Amino acid sequence: MTRFIFITGGVVSSLGKGLMSAALGALLQARGFKVRLRKLDPYLNVDPGTMSPYQHGEVYVTDDGAETDLDLGHYERFTGVPSRQSDNVTSGRIYQTIINKERRGDYLGGTVQVIPHVTDAIKEFVLKDTEDHDFILCEIGGTIGDIESLPFLEAIRQLGQEMGRDRVCFVHLTLVPYLEAAHELKTKPTQHSVKELRSIGIQPDVLVCRSEKEIPLGERRKIALFCNVPEKAVIQALDAPSIYAVPLQYHGEGLDAAVLSAFRLDPAATPPDLSRWREIVGRISAPEGEVTIAVVGKYTGLKDAYKSLMEALVHGGIANNVRVNIHWIEAEIFEAEDAVAHLEDVDGILVPGGFGERGSEGKIAAVRFARERKIPYFGICFGMQMAVIEAARNLASIEGASTSEFGPCKHPVVGLLTEWQKGNEVVSRSAADDKGGTMRLGAYEARLMPGSRVAEIYGDTRIFERHRHRYEVNIAYRKTLEEQGLLFSGLSPDGELPEIVEIPDHPWFIGVQFHPELKSKPFDPHPLFASFIAAAVRQSRLV
Ligand code: GLN
Repeated sequence: MTRFIFITGGVVSSLGKGLMSAALGALLQARGFKVRLRKLDPYLNVDPGTMSPYQHGEVYVTDDGAETDLDLGHYERFTGVPSRQSDNVTSGRIYQTIINKERRGDYLGGTVQVIPHVTDAIKEFVLKDTEDHDFILCEIGGTIGDIESLPFLEAIRQLGQEMGRDRVCFVHLTLVPYLEAAHELKTKPTQHSVKELRSIGIQPDVLVCRSEKEIPLGERRKIALFCNVPEKAVIQALDAPSIYAVPLQYHGEGLDAAVLSAFRLDPAATPPDLSRWREIVGRISAPEGEVTIAVVGKYTGLKDAYKSLMEALVHGGIANNVRVNIHWIEAEIFEAEDAVAHLEDVDGILVPGGFGERGSEGKIAAVRFARERKIPYFGICFGMQMAVIEAARNLASIEGASTSEFGPCKHPVVGLLTEWQKGNEVVSRSAADDKGGTMRLGAYEARLMPGSRVAEIYGDTRIFERHRHRYEVNIAYRKTLEEQGLLFSGLSPDGELPEIVEIPDHPWFIGVQFHPELKSKPFDPHPLFASFIAAAVRQSRLV
């Protein structure tokens, strides 16, 4: 029997609802249950693919090619369960489906309404592909009281009613603020948030209360009484030293036990095995050294724009028992200044994914510095494309080498490819295509050259990695660049699309067209990140 846990947030945004959902998923998994996490986003974009990272943070890409909310990254990192297209839906997508149906005449003359048509479409999404799971955790984006999340709340209320208490549980995340002047924790915002939820027919079963200070028993009792939940279901959630400490911390506060009890399941019947989390927290809290990695990008002001990347670097640190300090650098500064001053003391340089011309010359300058000074370099997607342009210009002396992303150029060493293979299918696109959902997206196979550094790192010559880009390194320049020492060590199975470049005669210089950070996990660090950080450790010993 599949059970559903609906997770809502109240009082303010940014309380870490995605993280809490992921941690709860990990805890239920540690008790032997099969879990899947999903997210319902109330905004009207069909998916977050067209939103600026400044607006929405990173776009997380699934194996099946969906561009999704970054919370799905948390879910996957904490549970190891690969997310799918069907795990994230927005109001935009729901409305698009309904309007398409209406245009086709599927409603046979009926009036199309929010209730029942929109709510039914939401329920259908929640229930799809859930049969072989014990728990589906479904997070509702936004904060209680937002106008736009109302259809979602109505849909989950109906599901609660239809499936009953044994199959549905509502978890509400709130804030218990501390007022410095009064030296007091305040429970009123939580009471109000729950009141708002109850006014739309949802009685939460478990309250997770974020707080900067310990919430005394008396205050917890008060919350329980006013919000109509058992005392044990008021969970204190203090700030954690690391996101990976959250599962252990919430377990210590009784979160998973409270959720199981809400389903009338006995928590003692499924004791959790938390050794995996203890091991990770142990390594993070007692590193044997540290390294500094410069990330030269464009959205460095908003760390959420590079969420998975940051985490993958942490995982690389876990693999090597070191702390990874990330030194964020706006690429544009290298266009005015010399890279040396900023990059001299770092142990590794990483240029992440990116779009557009702004800052690109700065990124190319950073690549050149890493290549010439023999500092470990990791180029991801745009970072690989910049490395190819740098090699074309400075090693192969191809004047005017650039990418057609920035407009017509004499030597498009990176260009728009209009047709490619996906398995046995041919996929095509054109410069005039819609921007949404038309990139090369999702998992693609790559073949690695036997004996290359990447083949050694992966311990394999066939890999599957996730993509999200419109332009490709131009295979026509392969011979010229290989003669100059830039090896095309990974290619698509048909040999047409360069997937990896490396410089064998360098301590560590690798560019990949895909996004390895999306598949890295704390308990299973991605081999490229583990190897890059290992190279940074060696570099740190040199200086
Ligand atoms: N802008 C580049 C492209 O579309 C790279 C994209 C990326 O780094 N994700 O090909």
